Amino acid sequence: MNIFSYQQASDAVSAITMKKAGPAAKYLGGGTNLVDLMRETVEQPEMLVDVTHLPGNIEQRADGSLLIGAAAKNTALAAHPAVRSDFPLLSRSILAGASAQIRNVATVGGNILQRTRCRYFYDNAARCNKRQPQAGCDALEGFNRYHAILGASDSCVATHPSDMCVALVALDAVVHLQGPAGGSSMPLAELHRLPGDRPEIETELQPDELITAIEIPPLGFARRSTYRKVRDRASYAFALISVAAALDIDEGGKVRDVRLALGGVAHRPWRAMKAEAALKGQVAGTEGFRAAAEAELADAVALSENGFKIELAKRTIVAVLDELKGDNA
Ligand code: SF4
Repeated sequence: MNIFSYQQASDAVSAITMKKAGPAAKYLGGGTNLVDLMRETVEQPEMLVDVTHLPGNIEQRADGSLLIGAAAKNTALAAHPAVRSDFPLLSRSILAGASAQIRNVATVGGNILQRTRCRYFYDNAARCNKRQPQAGCDALEGFNRYHAILGASDSCVATHPSDMCVALVALDAVVHLQGPAGGSSMPLAELHRLPGDRPEIETELQPDELITAIEIPPLGFARRSTYRKVRDRASYAFALISVAAALDIDEGGKVRDVRLALGGVAHRPWRAMKAEAALKGQVAGTEGFRAAAEAELADAVALSENGFKIELAKRTIVAVLDELKGDNA
């Protein structure tokens, strides 16, 4: 690990000022990913600006929406009564991630900005376009069981590792940002990029921009929602496939509304817009759920070791929607 300096910010403006002043500075949340990357010398900041003392409140407004300070701990968000009752998919997604010890220190902002767990990204002896642009990608012909089946490129086939972000994307969450030029916001679904030929650029954040809060708009039928994660072992493993879903069925048994997002499939949390479009207005049943899953995965491309994920994704979508249909009965 390189030598670095450390400063603690008390608000967003001072955090930005500190970071702009420091050469090669990074914001530090819980450090559960960044410090690992520093130990491996993949990240080599010369200064860390600790933003864990910025607001981390979790507030439910009168309209049912949630405002979450970016410094909120993952554990606090998963355990919040309003999240557990009104957005259970979000609570379940967080509890499916990492370990209790990590969730206790990891922040919501840091969770969103965590980096891929592709093993070649962490291995300085491997070729990785994300770590070293134009170096090549050893995952293309190597260990790629966990890698992308949607939206990948010849430059990078990594997946985004967050469970929480999959649920947030399904919920149309918005991120609030503070930058040198002032405040702004954008849909979380637009924050993370697909790799294209610049996999080292992972988000649409501008230089020194900081996530200050996450807003979840009201969604009544999210009370009937869930998150299912399929992985190689029961805990402390990243998703092979995950599905976040909320389902609203009308009195006639048709899908009135649905939210669906996938994890473990792409460089960003994947909102399943094709499946949602295929489901709306259709009879809620296994046949329709399967047709929607087929539509979403129609463009999936397998690598040497991850072809099973295409069928696994379809089956997980169907299983989750079947479960939620039962909840609607
Ligand atoms: Fe690097 Fe992406 Fe290739 Fe992994 S998949 S080695 S992160 S370029």
